[in-house]
Amino acid sequence: MTAQTASKIAIVTGGSRGLGRNTVVNLARKGIDVVLTYHSNRAEADAAVAEIAELGGNAVALQLDSGVTESFDDFVASLKTALSENWGRGSFDFLVNNAGIGINAPITETTEEQFDRLMNIHLKGVFFLTQKLLPLMADGGRIINLSSGLARFSGPGYAAYGMMKGGIEVFTRYLAKELGTRGITANTVAPGAIETDFGGGAVRDNANYNKMVSSVTALGRAGVADDIGPMIASLLSDDNRWVNAQRIEVSGGMNI
Ligand code: NDP
Repeated sequence: MTAQTASKIAIVTGGSRGLGRNTVVNLARKGIDVVLTYHSNRAEADAAVAEIAELGGNAVALQLDSGVTESFDDFVASLKTALSENWGRGSFDFLVNNAGIGINAPITETTEEQFDRLMNIHLKGVFFLTQKLLPLMADGGRIINLSSGLARFSGPGYAAYGMMKGGIEVFTRYLAKELGTRGITANTVAPGAIETDFGGGAVRDNANYNKMVSSVTALGRAGVADDIGPMIASLLSDDNRWVNAQRIEVSGGMNI
């Protein structure tokens, strides 16, 4: 890989599949280089890197479990090495906290283990990973945190998940407040129901669920990854530099 210094660099957690994958490809199309993370599926991460290389972009894949804060120091060390070796830099520009899982369980049946897993990945992990990465983020950088329509409306079985996403929306506003002096913006992108592997692929593979989602969406269908990645890429462009501390729902008008 050739060393580049001119391109902006984005870190996208969970960039190997789904919304993260679509985001990294659309960032590459805009000339933004990428450090994408994956959890366990190395093959998909390698495929994402190859797809970006075909577009003429530069990408590196690093392993990360965003639910294990004890691993973050090692991740930061790997990131520093990757930034130095591939770009000759000690910093990056954009952070997209996207990695996540879905667990559907009614409040009466949610176990403490399920709750802790969601909290560690969606809330605690995002807080402390961002904290660890801030010293490496260039002034004038951008943070995008992924929330969900489920933080605005209530979907049966998503109480624990939805409340973590609600917390992320509050965290985002505090990030914007505390980082403004460095010229760093922070915004939340909240997708509606999107056809990915998320939650066992329910939106994509369960015809009844897909039909229900379509029926409560103003634009009359469930979302696809292509509805989200280009939007995130455009939010990271200079055109949107004055958008700060906002929750932007990208749902085609779901449950309005
Ligand atoms: P996918 O299941 O398609 O992809 C999940 C990605 O996150 C993969 O890259 C996966 O890596 C990674 N990941 C999973 N667990 C961990 C972990 N413990 N640590 C680090 N990385 C992990 O999900 P989506 O793309 O659909 O979801 C992305 C984000 O969007 C999530 O935050 C989700 O909550 C949110 N969202 C999704 C919606 C939807 O309907 N799809 C709606 C609203 C919000 P690997 O391949 O290695 O497992």
